[in-house]
Amino acid sequence: MGFVCLGYCSVMTEPTTSFRTCPLCEATCGLAIEHQDGTVTRIRGDHDDVFSQGFLCPKGTVLGKFHDDPDRLRTPLIKQDGRHVAVSWDEAFAAISDGIVPVLDRSERDGGAMYLGNPVVHSLDLSLYSRAITVALGSKKVFSASTVDQRPREVASGLIYGSSFTIPVPDIDRTTALLLIGANPLVSNGSLATAPDWPGRIQALLDRDGALIVVDPARTKTAAKATTHLAPFPGTDALFLAAIASELVSTGQHRPDDADRAALEQVVEALAEFTPESVAEATGIAAEQTRDVIAQLVAAERPCVYARLGTTITPFGTTASWLVDVVNALLGALDAPGGAMFATNPAGSKNTRGEGPHGPVQTLGRRQTKASGMPIELGEHPVAALADEIESGNITALITVAGNPVLSCPDSERLDGALSGLEFMVSIDCYLNETTRHADVILPPPSHLQKPHFDVAFGNLAVRNVANYSAPIFPLDDGALAEWEICARLATVLGGGEGTREAAELVDSTIADQLIRGALGSSQCPPELSEERIRVAIGDRTGPDRVLDLLVRSGPYGDWFGSNDGLSLDVLVEHPHGIDLGALEPRIPEVLLTPSGRPEFAHPSLLGDVARLATLLTEPSSGLRLINRRTLRSNNSWMHNLEILVKGKPRCTMLMHPDDAQARGLDVGDRATVSSSAGSVEIAVELDDTIRPGVVSIPHGWGHGVEGTSLAVAERHAGVNVNVLTPATVVDPLSGTSQLTGFRVEVAAATA
Ligand code: SF4
Repeated sequence: MGFVCLGYCSVMTEPTTSFRTCPLCEATCGLAIEHQDGTVTRIRGDHDDVFSQGFLCPKGTVLGKFHDDPDRLRTPLIKQDGRHVAVSWDEAFAAISDGIVPVLDRSERDGGAMYLGNPVVHSLDLSLYSRAITVALGSKKVFSASTVDQRPREVASGLIYGSSFTIPVPDIDRTTALLLIGANPLVSNGSLATAPDWPGRIQALLDRDGALIVVDPARTKTAAKATTHLAPFPGTDALFLAAIASELVSTGQHRPDDADRAALEQVVEALAEFTPESVAEATGIAAEQTRDVIAQLVAAERPCVYARLGTTITPFGTTASWLVDVVNALLGALDAPGGAMFATNPAGSKNTRGEGPHGPVQTLGRRQTKASGMPIELGEHPVAALADEIESGNITALITVAGNPVLSCPDSERLDGALSGLEFMVSIDCYLNETTRHADVILPPPSHLQKPHFDVAFGNLAVRNVANYSAPIFPLDDGALAEWEICARLATVLGGGEGTREAAELVDSTIADQLIRGALGSSQCPPELSEERIRVAIGDRTGPDRVLDLLVRSGPYGDWFGSNDGLSLDVLVEHPHGIDLGALEPRIPEVLLTPSGRPEFAHPSLLGDVARLATLLTEPSSGLRLINRRTLRSNNSWMHNLEILVKGKPRCTMLMHPDDAQARGLDVGDRATVSSSAGSVEIAVELDDTIRPGVVSIPHGWGHGVEGTSLAVAERHAGVNVNVLTPATVVDPLSGTSQLTGFRVEVAAATA
């Protein structure tokens, strides 16, 4: 592209293209970002990206729009007389120090709590430094979006494999039959399975005459591509999986690894009452349909079962996740090419430190929340308990990081009210939204284009081993703080300090020192390596770049600080389109951290839930049940302030089968009142003759236009908050995850 100066542009710079991994969702697409003079002129897919090869979705094109959004916060805000006003960083940290520290100290820190939103895991800075806040807070009350999402999968993995990070992902590029349950990757772009271009990968499966079997109450975009689509009653997937497992064994069609045969047969013995016939009424899937699915999986050379959100946000999420692995193991598909495999995270993980020593037995049920006795697992309180804990005075101060629980958590009207009763609240967030409007102080991070990026978490979940680093494209605004520095300064304030730059640097150095000690203590550390050599190798880098360099260099592909030709941050910087580290490879037993050195399929906590699962067999199937849905241009709650993503016909509608609508005197476009045990909302009806009768669907993340927010575009496309309907009282007792799908609702024509 040429550069033309018209005489008035003395500081105009050359148009530049920068390559960057999209930080918005798990797909991690490579972007080619064209920009000039601090303005993004165009974003397209990076055709040279080793993982995404040019794919991107509509959301990937909006990073420039987000950077320029006038509602994006650029200076800290403090609440004065009920209104948020801009202040300097020093004033903001002073207000936090004066406001939150006395509140925390009065409760000996036990009254403090933290909520981490989903974007934390998509930010390198937050992934590496938010823990400093938790540590400085000095309270065990940590909540996150995990308990309205994937926590059951993590709990199941902890019990079976010894680490919650050890999550099997579908080897989508090599499978020949994919059973996909409760997932819609053609719209969500994947979850707990990092794979750019799901549409292309699914099409490739179909092109090689593979089977795509989709189990979903709605005929989603993914289901529409399926070679077989089954529409069960929502929330019954664990029954369906149990029937597949027991049928595989009773008909002698299983082919597990011999080392796991005894444990798996113990599991199937416990599942004996679940047969294709016995679960048919409860699931809505006829016995012959279940047998057809089994026949397709058994006949396939490389079968694979993969399940997602629709299976985990139910009261049986952990059990369903366990049974996915049991079925994969019975099919011989666990840890096998084309089956469900384990990634090797280039940034290192608990499960990349080599075989043994094996870990302790994982147990559940040791801690419960004070007010409502909900399970605390993997060190986190369930968000369903947050309102209870605040209302009962157990939480008096809250820090939220990149989260909007008022829209994303159950019984949200009650939570909204509870937040207003806190003694002090701090938010790290880019918007004045439905949650942060309650904050006494809001600390705004820079835009995505102003910070480095590397997916430290998604290396555990990728369907191919890949490493890709992105440097910031734009500098920080004058006076702005980097996201890591905000975290580090806040941590020092919570610890009783003043939140200075020097104090933040000390936090940063402490993190680096810990990683250096960890590297030197690793069994994989070359004997000749010394602390001095590591410090010379990492040079004078600071902040997230230094931490990432340490992680990658001491990770499974690392150069061990110059000891071999492996990865370092310098090597990553030299490869702006990423580095392909190859297809997934079998990793059992090296990936395991279990006492037996094998997957603990017959873990007592999992076997112990089978009796509860049996109660689902007699649940009445009449009435309406509500399910969630994703839309391609929406990402939870936080991207609704970008006109390009929300324009056009309203997306926050209720999908309903025409028969159900007619029975209630409703037609397309009518307003309906939807009620549950938690609350009611009014919403426009959209008819869909492909959704299962008895099921209605509303997307989540909407419900904007609330007083005290500053989201001009979102306010014009407000939608309704589906979580007003979600009861906070029903959780998966093994993981504490809320039931967000499949609960009963009443629908009637709106009266007004
Ligand atoms: S699929 Fe996800 S990672 Fe890819 S462009 Fe869209 S939002 Fe970004």
